[in-house]
Amino acid sequence: AIKVEDLHKSFGQLEVLKGVSLTACKGDVVAIIGGSGSGKSTMLRCINFLETPSSGKITIGGELVEMHADGSPSNRRQIERIRTRLAMVFQQFNLWTHRSLLENVIEVPVHVLKVPKSQAIVRAHELLERVGLGDKADTYPAYLSGGQQQRAAIARALAVDPSVMLFDEPTSALDPELVGEVLTVIRDLAAEGRTMLLVTHEMKFAREVANHVVYLYEGRIEEQGPPAEVFGNPKSDRLKQFLSSVA
Ligand code: ATP
Ligand code: MG
Repeated sequence: AIKVEDLHKSFGQLEVLKGVSLTACKGDVVAIIGGSGSGKSTMLRCINFLETPSSGKITIGGELVEMHADGSPSNRRQIERIRTRLAMVFQQFNLWTHRSLLENVIEVPVHVLKVPKSQAIVRAHELLERVGLGDKADTYPAYLSGGQQQRAAIARALAVDPSVMLFDEPTSALDPELVGEVLTVIRDLAAEGRTMLLVTHEMKFAREVANHVVYLYEGRIEEQGPPAEVFGNPKSDRLKQFLSSVA
């Protein structure tokens, strides 16, 4: 469902991604691990065109994203269309604070996808129910715990029925006791065959839910493979060192 080929990204003189290639087929859960500054967030942001890649090819749902030579998307309408098939969940939940959870969840379906409001509301209630927030539809984000806010952000992401979900450290801003409830929701999504790219520092979780693990080191894929291999039998010394530092 998503293919990245030889992705490069520089910020001025700083080359952050130095030729990253990866593929996630339908139903794949790809975990992306690596040290701080290795380029994990930048990679997800390039895939979503929140950042402009410097070069490379990105194919989403079989559709090659048209880019200028400098990596900027050359077809705005294509990007807008593709964005609606991707959903990103950030470390900081990024809910609209002045809107209720229900309003947060229906916003994009109603205003971007032009789903009839009554239909979007029915769906939003289902999604809030599914993430365990069925009774919080009229509540504003400020009245919720971090774990509840992140689950609401996941419900909002699901509202566009994305073909690929991108998670950037969805639990790292949470108090430890709230991590589990968010991981449970993500685990259920993985089990139902959602395609996901998941940046995480929860190694145990990555090992459990991912079917492929990518270890980024200074903007390159240093090692990748099935979780049993990457975690159980790492080859690269850098990966070994990384795993022992996060254990
Ligand atoms: P972390 O685990 O800390 O979230 P990361 O692997 O997600 O790290 P990135 O956020 O992708 O790392 O950052 C990679 C490098 O790119 C860092 O050196 C960072 O300072 C730099 N960088 C990221 N965004 C920008 C930007 N908008 N302008 C300049 N440099 C940036
Ligand atoms: Mg990051």
